[in-house]
Amino acid sequence: MEPMRVPAAMIDPFQRAITYLRVSVTDRCDYRCTYCMAENMSFLPKKDLLTLEELNRLCAAFIAKGVRKMRLTGGEPLVRKNIMHLVRTLGKRLGSGLDELTLTTNGSQLARFADELYDCGVRRINVSLDTLDPVKFHQITRRGDLDEVMEGIDACQKAGLKIKLNAVALKGFNDAEMPDMIRFAHGRGMDLTVIETMPMGEVEEDRTDRYLPLSKLRADLEQQFTLTDTGYRTGGPARYVRVKETGGRLGFITPMTHNFCESCNRVRLTCTGMLYMCLGQNDAADLRSTLRATQDHDALHAAIDEAIARKPRGHDFIIDRTQNRPAVPRHMSVTGG
Ligand code: SAM
Ligand code: SF4
Repeated sequence: MEPMRVPAAMIDPFQRAITYLRVSVTDRCDYRCTYCMAENMSFLPKKDLLTLEELNRLCAAFIAKGVRKMRLTGGEPLVRKNIMHLVRTLGKRLGSGLDELTLTTNGSQLARFADELYDCGVRRINVSLDTLDPVKFHQITRRGDLDEVMEGIDACQKAGLKIKLNAVALKGFNDAEMPDMIRFAHGRGMDLTVIETMPMGEVEEDRTDRYLPLSKLRADLEQQFTLTDTGYRTGGPARYVRVKETGGRLGFITPMTHNFCESCNRVRLTCTGMLYMCLGQNDAADLRSTLRATQDHDALHAAIDEAIARKPRGHDFIIDRTQNRPAVPRHMSVTGG
C-alpha cells in the first residue's frame, strides 16, 4: 500500500507559520451588540452554510496541514444546531494533531453546555462581557440577560473550565466601569482583555464616537492601579500587564493604535467555507467549492496552499472620519473576531 503523504505545513509569504484556525460556525446570534451588528441583520440562507460534516472535513484538512489550535466562534457558536456534535468530533483530535480546542462565546448558553464542553476536551473559553450592569448589558446587546451569562460563568468554573473575559472598550459606555470589571474578573480568577472597536460592517451607531484608544484607558487605569508589563503571551495579539492591587492579568488588544501583524499565526474560516487570510482585509478564498467538488484530500490541501500564499503582510484598518464608513464591509460576526 502506498504510504499516506504528509501534507506540507502552511508557511505564508512572510515566513509566518499558520498554526491557528478560527472557525465561525454560524453568522447568527441571539444578541445584536450595537458595535457588532445592525438591529435588522439579514442572515445567510441555510443552503449556503457548510454542514457540520463539511466543517469537520475542512477542520481535519487544516489539522493535517499543521493547525494546532482551533477556536470556534461566530455569530454565537453555541446557537448553531447540534454544535456539540462538531465539538465532540474535533475534541477527539486533541492530543493527535490538535493541542487546543476552544471557543469564544457571549455566554448566554453556557449554563447548558459547560459540563459537555469540558467532557469534549475543552479547557479554556473566552466569554465576551462588556459591562456588569444588567440594564447597560441589555442595552449594548439589544436583548441579553446578564443573569444568564453570570450563571454560565458559574457553571463553567464549576465544570473546571478556565475563563478569559473579553470586553470591548467603548467611550462613554464602559470606560468608567473598567476598574470594577478588573476587580470582578481577577476576584474570580479570570484574566480580562480589553479590545479596541474595529470598523467592521455597517452598524447604526457612529463608531468614531465610541472609539476609545487603549493608551488612554491604560493611562486612566494607572491613576488607581499599578500596571506592570509582562512578557506573557498566549500566541495572540494581546499584550498583558500584571495588576499589582488584584494580582491578576489584564490584556490589551490594540488593532487601531498598534500593529500586531508581524507575528500573525492565524487564518479564519467562515460558516460558508470562505477562508479569510486577514481579519482586516477583504481577500478570501472559497474552499466550499473545492470541498463540494471532490473528496480528494490533495485538491483541498492545494486550495488551502493557494490561499495561504495570498496572506497579506497586515491589515490597514482606518476609521474614515469624513465618511464614517467601515474600513471592512463585512461584520465581525462573519469571521468571529
Ligand atoms: N458571539 C461571540 C461573542 O460575542 O463572544 C463570538 C463572536 S463575536 C463577533 C467575537 C468578539 O468580537 C466579541 O468579543 C465581540 O465583542 C468582538 N467584536 C464584535 N464586533 C467588534 C468590533 N466591531 N470591534 C471590536 N470587537 C468586536
Ligand atoms: Fe453576537 Fe458576539 Fe456580535 Fe454580540 S459580539 S452580536 S454576541 S456575535
